[in-house]
Amino acid sequence: MTEFNEARRELVRMLINEGVLRSSKVIRAMLKVPREEFVLPRYRDYAYSDMPLPIGYGQTISAPHMVALMTEELDPGEGDKVLEIGTGSGYQAAVLAEIVSDRGHVWSIERIPGLAEFARENLKRTSYIGRVTVIVGDGTLGYSSYAPYDRIIVTAAAPDIPRALIDQLRVGGKLVIPVGDRYLQRLVTVVKEPGGKVRRKVGIPCVFVPLIGRYGYDEC
Ligand code: SAH
Repeated sequence: MTEFNEARRELVRMLINEGVLRSSKVIRAMLKVPREEFVLPRYRDYAYSDMPLPIGYGQTISAPHMVALMTEELDPGEGDKVLEIGTGSGYQAAVLAEIVSDRGHVWSIERIPGLAEFARENLKRTSYIGRVTVIVGDGTLGYSSYAPYDRIIVTAAAPDIPRALIDQLRVGGKLVIPVGDRYLQRLVTVVKEPGGKVRRKVGIPCVFVPLIGRYGYDEC
């Protein structure tokens, strides 16, 4: 693991210089979580290149700058209950787990059982499994069992914001989701204000794999 420490520090320095990483809590989390443990063994040498990497099943682990940017935008805090849609490798979930600490928890939904298993193994090996519950299912329906959530993050491209996710967000809570067509989206941040009114902010363009499910895209 130690052979990667310098590369991790260098990547974080770069993301700080670029202005993507800003808060000490996200910087600390990205310095701590070993991304090399969340990529396929043959891509370990690329773990600290700032790009998405294949994780099998036609899916990808997001690029570090995208994880940094989304986490900064989500602004999770210690003790928060966080829902993630699209577990993939489990890396984003681990970054969130690092921030919410033992006082909080992350529930992460993945539709592909083989990836849910991959993520669980990665989270076990890195000791985050106690703070992250990986669930196989359709995340466009949310996960009502532990709602409302303080924060909700969607790491796949949605045609629109699934209603269930807004319903399962606590008042004062925040949701970050890429919304657009299958090929290009914009990062949208939703804040649920007192009274239940929803405020949307449309952010930067981005490219994610599609969110496939009842209130997402059809499988093709
Ligand atoms: N956050 C991940 C990257 C995920 S890529 C990481 O850190 O590695 C997006 C993931 O969303 C893929 O694994 C894909 O299978 C999953 N996905 C797509 N539609 C979904 C749905 N409706 N519910 C849950 N997961 C979904």
